[in-house]
Amino acid sequence: MPVAQPAPPPASQLPPEAYRQAVDQADLAISITDPQANILFANEAFTRVTGYGCDEIVGCNESVLSNHTTPPETYRALWSNLAAQRPWSGRLLNRRKDGSLYLAELSISPVVDERGRTTHFLGMHRDITELHRLERVVRNQKELIESVIDAAPMAFALLDPNGRIVLDNQEYKKLVTDLRVSEPAHALLDGLLPEWRDALATQPERCAFASRETRFDRPAGRPRWLSVTSSVIAMHSDCADSYFCAAGQPGLLLVISDVSNLREEQERARAAVLQAVLAEEERTAAIREGLSAALFRLEEPMNVMASAIAVLQRRDPGSARMLQDALSASREHMETLRQVIPQSPQEIVVRVNINEILRDVLEVSTPRLLAAGIVVDWRPAATLPPVLGRPLQLRMLFKALVDNAIEAMNVKGWKRRELTLVSAVDADCIIVSVLDTGPGIPPEWRLKAFEPFFTAKNGSGRHIGTGLSRAQQVVADHGGIIDLDDSPGGGCAAIVEFRVDGDPI
Ligand code: FAD
Repeated sequence: MPVAQPAPPPASQLPPEAYRQAVDQADLAISITDPQANILFANEAFTRVTGYGCDEIVGCNESVLSNHTTPPETYRALWSNLAAQRPWSGRLLNRRKDGSLYLAELSISPVVDERGRTTHFLGMHRDITELHRLERVVRNQKELIESVIDAAPMAFALLDPNGRIVLDNQEYKKLVTDLRVSEPAHALLDGLLPEWRDALATQPERCAFASRETRFDRPAGRPRWLSVTSSVIAMHSDCADSYFCAAGQPGLLLVISDVSNLREEQERARAAVLQAVLAEEERTAAIREGLSAALFRLEEPMNVMASAIAVLQRRDPGSARMLQDALSASREHMETLRQVIPQSPQEIVVRVNINEILRDVLEVSTPRLLAAGIVVDWRPAATLPPVLGRPLQLRMLFKALVDNAIEAMNVKGWKRRELTLVSAVDADCIIVSVLDTGPGIPPEWRLKAFEPFFTAKNGSGRHIGTGLSRAQQVVADHGGIIDLDDSPGGGCAAIVEFRVDGDPI
């Protein structure tokens, strides 16, 4: 037969001795006082913490523990809470029996009898000197790190796994005002690593890179070149549910330095070279297009000759033969001519920042713009994702559009002369608008203008009408589209759209 186990006694039947032993042996300094804080009882831990034996402390006032350096307002708060029968907790500076000091974290609760009178106080405290020292070390280190970071000439931003900025410095705060973007770190990452948000959540190591440069264009003032280094660091969560989880979450530390001065110098030298390259390419293009136009126009009389030969064949075969020989010789010469047409140089496809291309074009066009008295309004997107493209062709494209705008406005007596150049990002597209305040382009010409050898300009002989058809070819080669429209300023708007993921042919 199984032996029946005795049921555990209900809590009310817990022997008073058990209470006493529990309090006595607790690992927390416990004292019980009368309403004037005279000690009636102190446990073993109290002796360990204060150095006072139980026999010598009973009968003393709790104030024997005071070092008399705790601010009086702390005691006032303590006693006013206790007087209102509310518990109180706080930190006091105590002195042990041997005179050594310790920081006590104390909690006092009033003991109230059935008539609502405070009969005793229960005090519980522990020595938190070491904890306080560690807290101070951490705080000092944090302040030290913050002042070093603040004094550093580069900007720092620490992003948590959700991309929130959890730490930054003075230089970073300056970037917010200088660049006029709410979160420069996000704008930089969007430009340098468009997929950074997903990568940070799934494969944080993909977010690490060193010294990548990006350029911030501002409507007014110089552009800023920033060099960014991104490192992945483990961050430990301070949420309770992460207490037993050792692994840290990835955070991103961005170190951003301004390399504008260096890059400006390089840019000046590059612009000079670029000017020469563009001039040479323009000259070659003019020869190429001049010859192509001549050959194109020669086709017409050739065709007339061919028809005449067909008619003469029966009536006057001798003349027909002569004419045929002349036609064949002409065709041969035309073929020779076709072969000497200079070809455009083969460029390799690279990652291109369209803002840089546009700025190059403005720089190269500045003398013409100034000479024509045209005011330029340059409104770049703060950052643009890179596109794959051929830089020289793209420069030629936008230069052709800017040249068209200049010519449209540089007419004797024309008053409003404003060129607006805008770059913007819309979904997966980069949109560039070249807007002028010239006479505009009639709707019936907007499609024809892209046909080879179409020109609305007469007389000067400089215009053979291949600029826009060449521009359209370059845009198409880059997987984009180009359109002509009315400009809000009353003139013509040339809109070029590239897909960010567009593949150039
Ligand atoms: P005062 O605060 O002016 O104290 C003078 C005396 O009057 C003391 O005996 C004090 O206990 C008593 N007293 C002051 N205000 C009241 C009041 N409103 N009602 C009844 N008596 C009052 N202090 C420490 O520094 N360290 C401790 O670890 C500590 N532990 C405590 C534990 C308990 C359970 C209680 C109730 C109090 C404790 N105190 C402690 C507070 C302590 O009693 C003194 O108030 C404090 O030390 C300041 O003493 P004082 O002599 O500098 O000045």
